[in-house]
Amino acid sequence: MPRIYLSSPHMGGDELSLIQEAFAQNWIAPLGPHVDAFERELAGYVGVGHAAALSSGTGAIHLALRMLGVQRDDEVICSSLTFSASANPIVYEGARPVFIDAERATWNMDPALLAEELERCARHDKLPKAAIVVDLYGQSADWDPIRAACARFDVPIIEDAAEALGADYRGKRCGTFGKLGVFSFNGNKIITTSGGGMLVSDDEALVKRARFLATQARDPAPHYEHSTIGFNYRLSNISAAIGRGQLRVLDARVAARRAVFERYRQALGDLPGVTFMPEAPFGRSTRWLTCLTIDGRAFGASREDVRLALAAKDIEARPVWKPMHLQPVFRECRAVGGAVSADLFARGLCLPSGSQLTTVEQDEVIDIVLACRRAR
Ligand SMILES: *Cc1c(COP(=O)(O)O)cnc(C)c1O
Repeated sequence: MPRIYLSSPHMGGDELSLIQEAFAQNWIAPLGPHVDAFERELAGYVGVGHAAALSSGTGAIHLALRMLGVQRDDEVICSSLTFSASANPIVYEGARPVFIDAERATWNMDPALLAEELERCARHDKLPKAAIVVDLYGQSADWDPIRAACARFDVPIIEDAAEALGADYRGKRCGTFGKLGVFSFNGNKIITTSGGGMLVSDDEALVKRARFLATQARDPAPHYEHSTIGFNYRLSNISAAIGRGQLRVLDARVAARRAVFERYRQALGDLPGVTFMPEAPFGRSTRWLTCLTIDGRAFGASREDVRLALAAKDIEARPVWKPMHLQPVFRECRAVGGAVSADLFARGLCLPSGSQLTTVEQDEVIDIVLACRRAR
């Protein structure tokens, strides 16, 4: 059997002909009509005013922080349970992350802890400059209380929806709940451009400014004129062609990942000690990755036993994200709570979840998990 990956690229069918269009017009780089169209089409899909296509989700978060005026020694709130790319750009700007723990119901930022922390900051007259809130594994954060808490103290939100393109919260798409929203088209995400990201906002001036900074901050002039420091963060026309093809099959990709999740849950959900990541009633997750927790004593095998049994059969499974407040690189940073995300990391496992995972492959994963239990 060939290796089974956690989440691999899954082309839709139109990508090659869109790339051929770019070749025929010699629009290989830098920008071009596919970039403009990809921005328009993605903005239309999520229901947001404006979008800037960028070379990565990380770059999008970096620019979002710039847009919000984050500077050296500012504090920026961030979800602790996430991928490091959510937090790294805070440090690029010389600012300091403050990590907030997850809540059990969604695995996302705990709105009560966030509100408490903002109240505490207000009392000390040192409010954070922004908050980066993640929609983890494709599940929407609980936006109503999070937005209310941030609005009360005028703290702008960056929504890191890198894993949640196609998810929604109370009928509205993820990526639209902050002042700025971020998507990723990295190779393992729900759709991919082979690498890329998108920054979205209803504020046209912010998105225009982001495009300007992402294109080396070239002032309007016949020569190269610069009055500020820029970045090389734009997406190429070829990558955008792939993205347009992928966008056409996005709903099918979400449906496929949700079906993968459902099939795992039916096969494994009743086992003692096994709990699948809950889906909060307020929204619909992309189920980017199927995640579950394993209570070793009740199940008879630990999360690591199961992961290693899968690895021995060339099947890629990963522990749930190690929280940022436990990462050596962020050990000096302030954290609010942390026990919930630490527990999810200790017991959590992500199973192969790609939209092209076959039922035969999935059965192999399921059989190995079941065998771990029988082997105790
Ligand atoms: C993938 C990911 C990113 C980074 O996106 P890239 O396009 O890989 O730079 C940021 N945040 C989260 C939560 C992610 O999963």
